[in-house]
Amino acid sequence: MTATSQRPKILIVGGGAGGLELATILGQKLGKTKQADITLIDPHRVHLWKPLLHEVVAGSLDTGAEALSYRAHSAENHYYFRMGAMQGIDLESKQIIVAPLLDHHGKQILAERRVDYDMLVMALGAHSNDFGIAGVKTHCFTLDSAQEAEDFHLSFLNRFLQFSEVAKPEDSVHIAIVGAGATGVELSAELYNAVDRLEQFGVDKVHHQSLQVTLIEAAPRILPALPEALALKAQKTLSDLGVSIATQKTVSAIEAQTLVTPEGEIKADLLVWAAGIKAPAFLSTLGLPTNRINQLEIDFSLRVKGQSDIFAIGDCAFLVGENTDERPVPPTAQAAHQMAATCAKNIIATINHQPNQDFKYCDHGALVSLSRFQTLGNLLDQLFNKNWMVEGKLAHWAYASLYRQHQLALHGYWKTLWILLGSVIAKRIKPKLKLY
Ligand SMILES: Cc1cc2nc3c(=O)[nH]c(=O)nc-3n(C[C@H](O)[C@H](O)[C@H](O)COP(=O)(O)OP(=O)(O)OC[C@H]3O[C@@H](n4cnc5c(N)ncnc54)[C@H](O)[C@@H]3O)c2cc1C
Repeated sequence: MTATSQRPKILIVGGGAGGLELATILGQKLGKTKQADITLIDPHRVHLWKPLLHEVVAGSLDTGAEALSYRAHSAENHYYFRMGAMQGIDLESKQIIVAPLLDHHGKQILAERRVDYDMLVMALGAHSNDFGIAGVKTHCFTLDSAQEAEDFHLSFLNRFLQFSEVAKPEDSVHIAIVGAGATGVELSAELYNAVDRLEQFGVDKVHHQSLQVTLIEAAPRILPALPEALALKAQKTLSDLGVSIATQKTVSAIEAQTLVTPEGEIKADLLVWAAGIKAPAFLSTLGLPTNRINQLEIDFSLRVKGQSDIFAIGDCAFLVGENTDERPVPPTAQAAHQMAATCAKNIIATINHQPNQDFKYCDHGALVSLSRFQTLGNLLDQLFNKNWMVEGKLAHWAYASLYRQHQLALHGYWKTLWILLGSVIAKRIKPKLKLY
C-alpha cells in the first residue's frame, strides 16, 4: 500500500458487465465502511449491458430508458467514478495513465492524467476483431458500444424511410452480417422483428419481405461455439424468417456496400461486422503478458501473471486450465459476472491478509434469443452433469434472467423489482419500436 494513503486505493478500469458489478460489491463491502477507496474509471457517462446492443440496433430497446448513470450509481454504492480512458501504465509508481478527455467536437476537456492505485483491476472488455481485413472500419457497422448501436439504428430507420418513398414493389433493403455467432444470429432475427413493427406502424410499402438479411460465416455452420442441435434449430427459425445463410464463406476485403469473397461479391445496403473479438491493442504494449488477441494472461486468483497487485477480469482476460486441452474461460457476460464475484472476494481477502481462492468457471450453458420468434438454449446442470435443451417460454425466461442477474448485482432486490415493474408499465404505454 502507498505510504501517503491510509486506506488502500482500489482502481477498476472499465465499468461493463464485470467491472461495474465489481465496483458495486467493493463499494458496498469496503467503501461503505471506509476500509478502502474504490474508484471506477470508464470513458462513458452511462453503462448499458452489452448483450442488449442488438436490441438497440433494431429499436426494440431504448438506450435512454435502460442506461445507468455511473455518477448516480457510484454515489449510491460508495465508490468514486472518474471519466476517462486508460492508455498506459507506470508499473513502478503504481499509476495508470488516462488519455486526454475530449468533447464531441474533439475539444479537450481534461488533459492527460495519472491515477494512483494500490490494487488495480483491468475490466476493459473487448471489441470487434477485424482480423486486419481492409475496409471493416470504414464500411461496416460494429456492435461495440451503445453509440455504435444507435448509429446503426438510425441508418436502419433512414434506409427504410428512403425505401418507403422510392421503392418499387420488387425492391428490398439488403443487410449483410459477417459472423454467425450469437451476435450475428440474434441481430438477424431482431431486424425482422423491427421490420414487422414498421409494417404495423403503417410505414408505406414496408412489409416482412422488404428486408433481406444475409448471414455470412466462415465455419461450416452457424453458432459454431454452441451445440449443433441448437444451431440447427436456430438455422430453421432464421430461414423461415427469410435470412439467407452462407456458411464456409470467408470475406477477404470490404468496399462500400460490398463484401468481397473468393466466390464473388455480395452487395448490400448496410454491412455489419460481428466476426469475433479482441482486447484493446494498447494492452499488449504495457509490459504485461498478453495472448495473440491482446488479452491479459491471468492466473487462477485472477491476477495478471507475475503481478501481485494487478487483476484482470472479463473479456480482456485470458485464463486457461493447466491441461492444454482445456478450453479458455469464454468471453461472455456469464464469465465476467462470475469473475467479478471471485475478484471481489480475493481483494477483500488480500486486504484482510487472508488466503485467496481460485476462480472456477461454472458453465451454465448458452442461450440464444431470436427476438419474439424463438429463444433456444442448452442449460448445463452441474449437479447431475446433464445438458438440457430448452426452447420457447422456459428458454426466454432463462435468457431474461441473465440480465436480471446483472441488475440484481447492481441494484439489489428491491430496486430491481421496481425497475422490473417500470419496464412492464413502459412496455404497455410505449410503442414497441423506438422510431427516433
Ligand atoms: C451484441 C452482443 C450480444 C451479446 N450477447 C451475450 C449473451 O447473450 N450472453 C453472454 O453471456 N454474453 C453476451 N455478449 C458478450 C458480453 O457482452 C461480454 O462478454 C461482456 O460484456 C464482457 O464483460 P466485460 O466487463 O469484460 O466487458 P464490457 O461489458 O465490454 O465492459 C468493458 C467496459 O470497459 C470500458 N473501457 C473500454 N476501454 C477502456 C479504457 N481504455 N479505459 C477505461 N475503460 C474502458 C468500456 O467503456 C466498457 O464500459 C454479447 C456481446 C455483444 C456485443
